[in-house]
Amino acid sequence: MVVRVALVTGAGSGIGRATAIALARRQYVVGVLGRTEEEIDETCSRINEDGGSAIALLADVSDQSSMQRAIASLIDETGRLDAVVANAGINGVWAPIDDLSLDEWNQTILVNLTGTFLTLSSCVPHLKSSGGGSIVVISSINGTRTFTTPGATAYSATKAGQVAMVKQLSLELARHKIRINAVCPGEIETSIEANTRIRHAEETAIPVEWPAGQVPITHGKPGQAADVAAVVEFLLSDDARHITGSPIWVDGGQGLLR
Ligand code: NAD
Repeated sequence: MVVRVALVTGAGSGIGRATAIALARRQYVVGVLGRTEEEIDETCSRINEDGGSAIALLADVSDQSSMQRAIASLIDETGRLDAVVANAGINGVWAPIDDLSLDEWNQTILVNLTGTFLTLSSCVPHLKSSGGGSIVVISSINGTRTFTTPGATAYSATKAGQVAMVKQLSLELARHKIRINAVCPGEIETSIEANTRIRHAEETAIPVEWPAGQVPITHGKPGQAADVAAVVEFLLSDDARHITGSPIWVDGGQGLLR
């Protein structure tokens, strides 16, 4: 049996970790890419304890040479690549437009959008060599169907940009039998809140309260990382063979309210 190989970026926590674990259970050898050894080691140990196979890859998605080194070492070990989950991302700074500095704007663009570009540009040659494959980009409801998150202009721009990249690339890559889709989560319980800086939300908030909570299907409770991982798993599988260029919202209906 040919071993299938998947790369997951930002696999050291949250959605990336849940996805890496789910793919390892599906018998993928998983390249666990993240920016701290501690986070990556924890994900790799969980996969190994589960009987799966993981390869630790320390890299910053926004740094071209570090990404090229990481992908080269994955290919050295496995010889192929079949699936890519471009998940690493930050919320960055959420602030009024006239309070957001150029450095803050640039940092969000660099990690979320340039990081997606560097992930895809380093991986696509190897998907082509494998004769095809599947890519999932983790976008968001923000920038795709929600525009009321206070001050999230830079973040929303990156998440909308990711969906545009997915649609554009679905046509370019179809001739190589590579499918590419976007998953757009709503509020999911992860560590991302700890990496968010919000300033002057009172100036940007849209004053709407939903008495029954913001996630209709769960009566307000946020989703879990595993809810997103299950959809990524499906999109990478052959059951999704006719789906490409599509955003799929995994938000319990939240994006339609807000
Ligand atoms: P998280 O903070 O738990 O995970 C993000 C991971 O990306 C972390 O392990 C972090 O170390 C890594 N990372 C950040 N910058 C990196 C870089 N430059 N290089 C390499 N790794 C880097 O958050 P999460 O919620 O699991 O977020 C994953 C993705 O899901 C993000 O793209 C985020 O925008 C998206 N998302 C999350 C939610 C949510 O509510 N949690 C909602 C919509 C979309």
